[in-house]
Amino acid sequence: MATVYDVFVIGGGVNGCGIARDAAGRGYSVYLSEKNDIASATSSASSKLIHGGLRYLENFEFSLVRASLKERDILIKIAPHIMREMRFVLPHHNKHRPVWLLKLGMLLYDNLYSSKYVKRSSYIRLSSHGSKSTLIESFKKGFEYSDCITDDARLTVLNAADAKRLGGNINTRTIVKNIEQQKGVWNIEIMNTITNETKYVQAKVVVNATGPWVDDFLKNRTKQTKVDNVRLVKGSHIVVKKLFNHSYAYILQNSDSRVFFAVPWENEFTFIGTTDVDFKDNLDSFSASDDEINYLCKSANQYFRSDITSNDVVKHWSGVRPLYDDGSIKAQKASRDYTIRIDSQDNSSALINIFGGKMTTFRQLSEEVVNKVGLILGKNKSPWTSDVQLPGGNFSLSEKPKIIDALAKKHDYLDVDYIERLFNLYGNRVEYILKNVSSIDNLGLHFGRDLYQVEVDYLMQEEFALFPEDVLERRTKLYLFLDYDKIENLDNYMQKKRKVRLKI
Ligand SMILES: Cc1cc2nc3c(=O)[nH]c(=O)nc-3n(C[C@H](O)[C@H](O)[C@H](O)COP(=O)(O)OP(=O)(O)OC[C@H]3O[C@@H](n4cnc5c(N)ncnc54)[C@H](O)[C@@H]3O)c2cc1C
Repeated sequence: MATVYDVFVIGGGVNGCGIARDAAGRGYSVYLSEKNDIASATSSASSKLIHGGLRYLENFEFSLVRASLKERDILIKIAPHIMREMRFVLPHHNKHRPVWLLKLGMLLYDNLYSSKYVKRSSYIRLSSHGSKSTLIESFKKGFEYSDCITDDARLTVLNAADAKRLGGNINTRTIVKNIEQQKGVWNIEIMNTITNETKYVQAKVVVNATGPWVDDFLKNRTKQTKVDNVRLVKGSHIVVKKLFNHSYAYILQNSDSRVFFAVPWENEFTFIGTTDVDFKDNLDSFSASDDEINYLCKSANQYFRSDITSNDVVKHWSGVRPLYDDGSIKAQKASRDYTIRIDSQDNSSALINIFGGKMTTFRQLSEEVVNKVGLILGKNKSPWTSDVQLPGGNFSLSEKPKIIDALAKKHDYLDVDYIERLFNLYGNRVEYILKNVSSIDNLGLHFGRDLYQVEVDYLMQEEFALFPEDVLERRTKLYLFLDYDKIENLDNYMQKKRKVRLKI
């Protein structure tokens, strides 16, 4: 008899993978289908901040900010390899929010949830601050405060990898074409987009975690009627060669009352974003418009001493937020909180839809969804994810330098920068990647920069990578340094391994 899964998750973004991990860890049988690669949509296109969201205070979203700050601490604890405390400089601008308002914001941000891990805010004079000589001279004072920066795509992949370790069945390049409920069981039609093979899977609970496709999915692939739930808002970021030589990031105010970020990234770059533009185009193919790129350059030029133009933009990325449509007038005012809705409940079967949310709160969202799954199935099991580290994260933040040092000593024939890059991506899993390596020759084929076969093998075996862009853009950020025209060796190597894996 065919398996009837407890939970079928549609979508391998951070929410889908977080739900799959949580559910698998509670002992439910789990199947996840992602039509492209893990984190190939919104979950690799965010501003990469694990944050309370300073600007949501202006919308009086205190409970969202508090919950997000609490999650920030949990994520530092369970994924210390991919979380980094970042000090943000918030300069005061004479024409925008007054100093007392900024101060009030800082006070609330520090106190809504008292962090165990990150520093509190402080007032600063820019002429004597560590970030001096970066901003135009007219900016004299401001505040600095902490939030965290992460690698959004890796956070997602680590959840998927852990879901697999816990027994979950994770399938990429597998689109869900149709779902139909019959006598308390969902029949789900899926198709592998590489082999075109179609099959049916059965499950009791289906979770629609398709992010910006959530309404599109309901409209075109189910018989649901409530299909206009989200407002799609596009946000773009640009990447330029680094604009400053210190480790502070910036949160900056624009004349249209929006805020934007300028963040030091991957040692050699600064990324700047984001925009907020209502979106009505094709979700499967979009990118930053010239207007958005020029807007971001112009915004940065109001603050930084070095001017940038679109010619300085080396990369850009865009994502679409599916904001639960609460009727807000402006995109930036619409809530970033999430909504979970249960449809088609029938015996121990249902469809759970997820609308909106933030990267920062994916774990909490996943926990709430899986609690609901337990109630629907009639076999509730306790939440567990706030205490258990993601793969490679089984160490505390303070131990990090010591571990990197020990790895560098053990593998003293390898470049320390290489060890550090690996550790910042894989944490303690580096030991596994390098388990058979005792000289440079054991790293295997070299694909450019410091990418070797051992890492690619690991990513294909443990982290669902199938194509070069899965490795270069999402599991690492080597696409910033490697030219796509010169990755033929990587392409050929992965193609051979992919054929064996998919038996084609
Ligand atoms: C510009 C921008 C900046 C942001 N910045 C931040 C930030 O700094 N901090 C923060 O906390 N949050 C941020 N967010 C929000 C955060 O990125 C999202 O909340 C999160 O990534 C949403 O994840 P998701 O899993 O719901 O959606 P997605 O990551 O989009 O995943 C949905 C997946 O479903 C798949 N799918 C769709 N249809 C099907 C189908 N039929 N079959 C199979 N698979 C399907 C898609 O391929 C996709 O991979 C930002 C968002 C944007 C757009």
